[in-house]
Amino acid sequence: MQYTSTRDSSVRFTASQAITQGLSADGGLLTPYYIPKLPGNALDELKDMPYQARAVYVMKQFLEEFTVKELTDFAAAAYGPEKFDTPAVAPVHTLNESTHCLELWHGPTCAFKDMALQMLPHLLTASLTKTEEFRTVCILVATSGDTGKGALEGFKDVKGTRILVFYPKDGVSAVQELQMVTQEGDNVGVASVIGNFDDAQTGVKRLFSDEALREELDKRGFFFSSANSINWGRVLPQIVYYVSAYCDLLRDEKIQPGQAINVCVPTGNFGNILAAYYAREMGVPIDKLICASNSNNVLTDFIRTGVYDRNRQFYNTESPSMDILISSNLERLLLTLTQDVDEVKGYMQQLNATGRYQVSDKVKEKLQQRFFGYCCDDGETEKVIGRIYAKDRYLVDPHTAVAFSALEQYRAETGDETPCVVVSTASPFKFCGSVLSALGEKNIASGLDVLDQLSEKTGLPAPAPLAGLRGKEIRFTTTVEKAHMVDAVLSMLE
Ligand SMILES: *Cc1c(COP(=O)(O)O)cnc(C)c1O
Repeated sequence: MQYTSTRDSSVRFTASQAITQGLSADGGLLTPYYIPKLPGNALDELKDMPYQARAVYVMKQFLEEFTVKELTDFAAAAYGPEKFDTPAVAPVHTLNESTHCLELWHGPTCAFKDMALQMLPHLLTASLTKTEEFRTVCILVATSGDTGKGALEGFKDVKGTRILVFYPKDGVSAVQELQMVTQEGDNVGVASVIGNFDDAQTGVKRLFSDEALREELDKRGFFFSSANSINWGRVLPQIVYYVSAYCDLLRDEKIQPGQAINVCVPTGNFGNILAAYYAREMGVPIDKLICASNSNNVLTDFIRTGVYDRNRQFYNTESPSMDILISSNLERLLLTLTQDVDEVKGYMQQLNATGRYQVSDKVKEKLQQRFFGYCCDDGETEKVIGRIYAKDRYLVDPHTAVAFSALEQYRAETGDETPCVVVSTASPFKFCGSVLSALGEKNIASGLDVLDQLSEKTGLPAPAPLAGLRGKEIRFTTTVEKAHMVDAVLSMLE
């Protein structure tokens, strides 16, 4: 299996090169030439296997250079009982005959980023060996919250790696900050940057392009890489849980072999829903893909009109991981729909230059055959949390609630009652404030006390990784000016 760039079809990479490199030199995304089809009996075989074995099977289709033994070791390390609080790893919770919720937050940081970031370090370190890179990879991350902690947990104590995370001093929640500054592991570093997320991100970009720093690191036996969501090593592990969800529904006789399902995905950078699309291409009977957005509804408009336009107001919402105006992974879908790198390149150039592009009628038509877009604001998000809790005694976080709202809207508009898998991307305990307020609570406790408050209100225990923050030692207290991030890097890599 070869990989190519979404902007240049002459690019040819192996899987390990694609994972090592992250991004193509032309700015495009490295993507498989074609999506392999699952053998006819695969779903039937996979349905009786545990999640880890399903992961090996699905990933192997894309990773010829990796042996089954290697992938089996990776899956055991990434999705084992020390990391996930349920042997199912990504369990499906059924609300009613036609509505199922795929819970992707049973990992160490209680958000769906774990599904990919637990696997990526293994794929990356093995890829480095295969491409004969023997320096230590230093992963640099600027984070507005979830990704930083997910990457820290994923790379923690992985041999041959270091990970340094910069978060904005004024841009993460108290719980998120505590999650990062108490991070364990011998190869991790965390510092806050004075300013907001943009300051941290610009600072990290500058580190990546600092030639002098690069040379100094090389002398010390290090080189920089990133773990962001356009790396193929993050998209691939996400295909697995769609295959797995279908297998669970089959195994539990909630659907018949071959029966179509829809999926509904709370979307930001378009990585998660893209993985669903690839699962469909592999042969999982997925019919419609419902793309759910919050008030930052650039994708809703795109799916409905064929016009992508980021020139609009940015909203900070209660589903912050979806507060995104440029959904980078959409570029991979555009390649599939157009089959034309020059067309994709043209759209991306327009996006860079003007913040806007309009796809051809042909592409729009293809898009609308599969994708439906809906959005809702914070008010509706809270109402949905309240409604689902009242009706089904099921507690969802604000991101997941946006998806449930989209599904309600889709069903009302189309009358389509095909069984739907709604993807749940975070534990409600990660967003206690919004969830408590949605349940009618007026006086919301401060700090970590919100965990107890939500537990008492619902009778549900807080996930261990969040409850356990209380007794944890604070290991990182460095705060730097944006201009001094270089010094922070050098001192962390001594
Ligand atoms: C990252 C994230 C999303 C968005 O996923 P994309 O793959 O970027 O579309 C949704 N919900 C949560 C909780 C997330 O952390």
